[in-house]
Amino acid sequence: MQFGMTEEQAMIVETTRAFVENELYPHEAEIERTGHLDMDVIRDVQKKAMEAGLYAANMPEEVGGAGLDTLTWLMYEKELGRANYALHWTGVARPSNILMAGTAEQREKYLVPCMKGEKWDCLAMTEPDAGSDLRGMKATAKRDGGDWVLNGTKHFISHADIADFAICFMATGVEDTPRGPKKKITAFFVDKGTPGFEVREGYGNVSHRGYTNAVLEFDDCRLPDEAVLGEVDKGFQVANEWLGATRLQVAATCLGRAERALEHSISYAAERKQFGQQIGKFQGVSFKLADMALELKAANLLTWEAGWKFDQGTVTESDMSMAKLKATEMLAFVADEAIQIHGGMGLMNELPLERIWRDARVERIWEGTSEIQRHIISREMLRALGA
Ligand SMILES: Cc1cc2nc3c(=O)[nH]c(=O)nc-3n(C[C@H](O)[C@H](O)[C@H](O)COP(=O)(O)OP(=O)(O)OC[C@H]3O[C@@H](n4cnc5c(N)ncnc54)[C@H](O)[C@@H]3O)c2cc1C
Repeated sequence: MQFGMTEEQAMIVETTRAFVENELYPHEAEIERTGHLDMDVIRDVQKKAMEAGLYAANMPEEVGGAGLDTLTWLMYEKELGRANYALHWTGVARPSNILMAGTAEQREKYLVPCMKGEKWDCLAMTEPDAGSDLRGMKATAKRDGGDWVLNGTKHFISHADIADFAICFMATGVEDTPRGPKKKITAFFVDKGTPGFEVREGYGNVSHRGYTNAVLEFDDCRLPDEAVLGEVDKGFQVANEWLGATRLQVAATCLGRAERALEHSISYAAERKQFGQQIGKFQGVSFKLADMALELKAANLLTWEAGWKFDQGTVTESDMSMAKLKATEMLAFVADEAIQIHGGMGLMNELPLERIWRDARVERIWEGTSEIQRHIISREMLRALGA
């Protein structure tokens, strides 16, 4: 077992951290104030991220990415995760790995421009009546002549307002399984501007200001066969193959934000004086710091271990769920304690803590809720015993 970073990993972490501090932190306050991204700022950040080799670093070298292994990619995600989410997600975009599953023509049309920062993608699965239970989706794609005709509604779709196209998962039939009839799902590329496809403004959201969500409406939206991503009826297989580590990505970004909150808390506890001494000398404060550091380290170890196992080909669903569950719940705890240590100042927008606390809330919901992660972990243990 080896717990140290390689020289290359240390260099990537250092470069990403410097980029985050110098190029992202200065724009955070404005996004928090307005709730909107200034696209001129984003273009400028994109350009700098490309020059620094950080843009789309998740992707393989053969398509112009950095070709990072999973563990190193998670270290890079952790550093990006320290900053405002909308800012790093658009300015230092990580196009979805699922774009690698496309045909040569699809790669040329969608993947290449995403790598160059000319296009953004978004991924649409969730519907008003199908969240955790995605197989219950109602939006359909039906054969009509040589075309597909899409109908239905997706909601909560992140940054669909600025995305140039959506990768949409639609029901294309029903199959009998040992657990009853289940929808067959197919993934489609849908370009903005396609007749019958409308992107509407989504909901206001407590977490991640500037990171919008949208409602996608399909009303007899007609697509050719070339719009199918992967095989017909195999949409979940393609998602499982290419989106495998997104739970670890969520975990890693949570680690970064928790680390930032802890750093603020340590400094404040060492500086702030009450009753004639630094508040860190009160056990009521110092024990909080100890528990925060402990939880952060535990979540970090689980995440790095799952990332390492992903690279070895030995990772289990339970490994990834444990990392996601622990890191997201740890962040909620650390963010809350950080505010407590700062007293009233913790709630003021002078510091990034109230934001980290708000932003932490969504992490236990998207990419599979905490309950769904617990379900996955427990099923893996019980299934073996036939329970
Ligand atoms: C800000 C934001 C951005 C998002 N971005 C995207 C996106 O880009 N693309 C996309 O497709 N989706 C996106 N989502 C959707 C997200 O993945 C879902 O919100 C999530 O999967 C949960 O679905 P739901 O909100 O419908 O909750 P539900 O599934 O309705 O769950 C409600 C409650 O019931 C619990 N529950 C449900 N089933 C079980 C069970 N079997 N056992 C125990 N408890 C259960 C849940 O844990 C939860 O507490 C986004 C969501 C948010 C909030």
